[in-house]
Amino acid sequence: MRFITKVVFFMFVSVVVAFAKPTIYILATGGTIAGSGSGALDTSYTSGTVTVDKLIAAVPEINKIATIKGEQISNIGSQEMNNEVWFKLANRVNELLTSGKADGVVITHGTDTMEETAYFLNLVVKSDKPIVMVGAMRSSSSLSADGPLNIFNAVNVAINKETAGKGVVVTMNDEIHAAREVTKTNTTGVETFKSPNAGKIGTVFYGNVKYYMSPVRKHTVNSAFDITKIKELPRVDIIYSHSNDNPDFANIAIKNGAKGIISAGMGNGNPFPTVIEVLGEGVKKGVVVVRDSRVGSGETTLNGEVDDTKYGFLASDNLNAQKARVLLMLALTQTNDKAKIQEFFYTH
Ligand code: GLU
Repeated sequence: MRFITKVVFFMFVSVVVAFAKPTIYILATGGTIAGSGSGALDTSYTSGTVTVDKLIAAVPEINKIATIKGEQISNIGSQEMNNEVWFKLANRVNELLTSGKADGVVITHGTDTMEETAYFLNLVVKSDKPIVMVGAMRSSSSLSADGPLNIFNAVNVAINKETAGKGVVVTMNDEIHAAREVTKTNTTGVETFKSPNAGKIGTVFYGNVKYYMSPVRKHTVNSAFDITKIKELPRVDIIYSHSNDNPDFANIAIKNGAKGIISAGMGNGNPFPTVIEVLGEGVKKGVVVVRDSRVGSGETTLNGEVDDTKYGFLASDNLNAQKARVLLMLALTQTNDKAKIQEFFYTH
């Protein structure tokens, strides 16, 4: 090839590469974002009735900024989320991102358990490419449905270079939250997602993305866990505390084979006295007990008002109970060593 021809050819390739749209996969799992009711003012609706193709068709603007591909992973209300769907989703995300087929993924999901799925993926997917979760509080047939703008924003977050390396993020209501921190705080309001211990990490306003913070705990490529090496998750139960409590649920959890228990205690993770004793007996039988709090923010501290050293309990740091459950299940796939598991809670 003559020199001038080569120069023109490389300029052409550079221009094509520079203007090539990123490929974003939208993996749909269900939820209100894919739900529909009988009318625009209907307060009752069914989650998971709209397919991924229809979700994408409702937001044609995203095709201008990315090559969009859709896949239906499941179509359920996220209160039905289960390990089978988690494994399918995590393996698919991992494959799409590590093979180079996708530059980023957007996962549509019900809001009820979005925080658990987000934290699970955050801990097991081995890629630092953007993984963005999105949902809606109003169904697709509702007046002022929030799904389409949330999806538009989510795709913009997924193509933004600054999203890389932040682990899984949740984008709803113009805000960007880190998977470890985010939680659903309101049963019906569009402003439901908050990060009580850390605050949102960024905003996205009609596609305009701005970051203000980065998560520092281990996730994705630095996490101790890897979806390709995990085949099943052990049973871990959550036990919620209250005044005048009784140890029946703790007894049943231990009897029925829970390998771990998250105690959502009162205040700084305080279970009722009779429950403490039963949980202590559980530890002697090999159950790993992690004290957490029902409060919703703040750290549960070791040896605060409970003698953790005596009972062999661990503490959850500042994870909420549903996320502590995710981390304990993953930790138990690797070890029963309580010191190592406690260390996971201080680093992930
Ligand atoms: N139960 C539904 C779900 O989590 C409703 C919540 C939503 O998606 O907003 O799928």
